[in-house]
Amino acid sequence: MDYSNIHEKIYNSLSKTEQKEADIIIDDTNLNICCRCTKIVRWFDEMYWKGEYHAKDNGTNHTNYILGDYDSVCDECYSILSNQKINH
Ligand SMILES: [Zn+2]
Repeated sequence: MDYSNIHEKIYNSLSKTEQKEADIIIDDTNLNICCRCTKIVRWFDEMYWKGEYHAKDNGTNHTNYILGDYDSVCDECYSILSNQKINH
């Protein structure tokens, strides 16, 4: 799986008007699109990123495991994904 294409796929699925709005939001602010639900959130404190270090990981790749095929997700999706991974 090529993770670098995920954001592009979401972006390409937007309408021209939505793409224009997304360009402004992503270029001029600290916002980014969640790869799972496409919600726009602050990338630095409202998203979980693949390869990102979290103190609670204790040096494991717990975050990468929870994210699975997603490159980055919002807090809400992260909690949904972690529930899914823990319960199944
Ligand atoms: Zn999300």
